[in-house]
Amino acid sequence: MQNQKLLAFVQGLSRLLQSNPAEDIILKEGGGLLATLVAQDDWLPELFTQPHPQFYQQYLLYADPLDRFSIVSFVWGPGQKTPVHDHMTWGLIGMLRGQEIDTHYFRQADQTFRRGDSHILKPGDIGSVSPATHDVHEVANFYQDRVSISIHVYGGNIGRIQRHVFNPGTGESKDFVSGYSNNVVPNLWS
Ligand code: FE
Repeated sequence: MQNQKLLAFVQGLSRLLQSNPAEDIILKEGGGLLATLVAQDDWLPELFTQPHPQFYQQYLLYADPLDRFSIVSFVWGPGQKTPVHDHMTWGLIGMLRGQEIDTHYFRQADQTFRRGDSHILKPGDIGSVSPATHDVHEVANFYQDRVSISIHVYGGNIGRIQRHVFNPGTGESKDFVSGYSNNVVPNLWS
């Protein structure tokens, strides 16, 4: 019962992607579907809300068998944050619990990055990334004393995509593959 909302989101996104829409349509309409999913914090199974004392956690909730999209629960422990990184595919962030700070970075002609504005995402808010316009960012838990959780959706199997972390001051990059923190996924079929 608790996974009905996630199943409805998987179905809605699958229908949306069936017609191969342009990326701006995916971000707009997919963002609307994600907003519905995170409108209420009453569906994410306990197992996928657990923080780690040292590292932010990335729990895979669902991966499309054709690699058209994946859905991940990001769990931020107090004060945890990502390095500056890219995605190599479109992405949507839906804030479920707590708050996070999303800061975009923009590559300059000399290969270093300019730090853009920071946006605070509150429960129900939607953010995005896109290789076409704003693929590089840094995300941090807004809180130093409590957990925050956001639901991320990407246009591929994000845990397996080779992507990059950056030193924004020098523009240097390092390859990385994020993987996932969990060995089991929610049962959408029970
Ligand atoms: Fe990211």
